[in-house]
Amino acid sequence: MKTVSIFGSTGSIGKNTIKVIEESPDNYQTVALIANSNVELLAKQAIQLNAKIAVTADESKFEQLKNALNNTNIQAAAGGKAVIEAAAMDSDIVMSAIVGYAGLKPTMTAIKRGAKIALANKECLVCAGQLMIDEVAKNNASLIPVDSEHSAIFQVLDPNQKDSVKNIILTASGGPFRGFSLEQLQDITPKQAVAHPNWDMGAKISVDSATMMNKGLEIIEAFHLFPVTREQIKVVVHPESIVHSMVEYKDGSVLAQLGAPDMRTPISVALSWPKRSEISGAALDLVSLGKLTFEDFDESIFPAISIAREALKIGGLMPAMINTANEIAVAKFLRGEIKFLDIIRIVEKQLHKSHNTDYSSIEDIFEAISEVEEGAFV
Ligand code: NDP
Ligand code: MG
Repeated sequence: MKTVSIFGSTGSIGKNTIKVIEESPDNYQTVALIANSNVELLAKQAIQLNAKIAVTADESKFEQLKNALNNTNIQAAAGGKAVIEAAAMDSDIVMSAIVGYAGLKPTMTAIKRGAKIALANKECLVCAGQLMIDEVAKNNASLIPVDSEHSAIFQVLDPNQKDSVKNIILTASGGPFRGFSLEQLQDITPKQAVAHPNWDMGAKISVDSATMMNKGLEIIEAFHLFPVTREQIKVVVHPESIVHSMVEYKDGSVLAQLGAPDMRTPISVALSWPKRSEISGAALDLVSLGKLTFEDFDESIFPAISIAREALKIGGLMPAMINTANEIAVAKFLRGEIKFLDIIRIVEKQLHKSHNTDYSSIEDIFEAISEVEEGAFV
């Protein structure tokens, strides 16, 4: 039996994690569940899993959570401090699935106590990069990717053969606007942008997939997770989302991981690693699919990938800065305050602002995030 905490339990990844856990109830015992606004669901999940503690980051929701957990042994807590205290509670595994840089502090807290981190929250690795990897090594923690592309590479990249790797190839679905012209992208609504053709995901990552910023963030994520150079990370569009990514070896072999577009598979891989568990209904039917296709993407329409590559090349605080600009811009777009094409314009503006991008500690990263939050781009 393993103990597990879920950061972001009420989100798309959080809910899928609970489905995986519920298929093997004898294998997992839940410690902490952390969420933000959806306290009704949070309380329901805590009761269902018999968690020790349920925490909402939103202090104003404390009474509601406490009332919902009345007559149970489950502790209720609220606020930023309570989130960090829950993250520090002992558990073998942490599912890191809070959306955005809000997940950075709790994830770093869990790393510092040597937990095995199933990492869905790519933004925290984009922001803290090498520092996070160093903390993992220093504290004997481990980082198992949940992002489907990185889970694929994790499964097919043989760490003993790293010198034989030519490239890693991230697949991209191309999102809902694959093949669109700039003119067609002009008046895209939030509703259109969150309707992903293959995956059912939270609003923020759905918009990132539509702008292709998601693939840009994933390049940075891959750079930190795997022993490859920036130039060795390639992207190919694969609209069916069946081949989740590939490793190309120098002898011409290309190893891929395939599966139905169902996040329960990479979640199960991360929770069970180095073993594997059975999950229901995730089978891939190749014959009914018939064929798999691959194509290039148009940089002139979707510049997000080259912006992310440039930020990675500059290094230091720049990935955290463009990530923060993107998060703010996506939130504005979802509120109807800016247009779809403005998102990447704002991110690009952030990239071109001259900054001292050196950092030495996590505090420097939080400071850079606050600077961008406070309007260091207009
Ligand atoms: P959702 O928007 O569906 O869920 C986000 C979760 O984070 C919710 O539980 C939300 O709580 C919680 N949350 C938001 N802000 C805070 C905060 N300040 N403090 C504590 N909790 C907070 O997102 P997804 O599940 O889609 O994505 C989660 C992460 O996983 C993202 O980083 C995404 O990039 C990554 N990912 C997701 C994939 C997917 O298929 N969905 C695939 C690959 C990666 P509440 O709902 O209660 O407000
Ligand atoms: Mg992905």
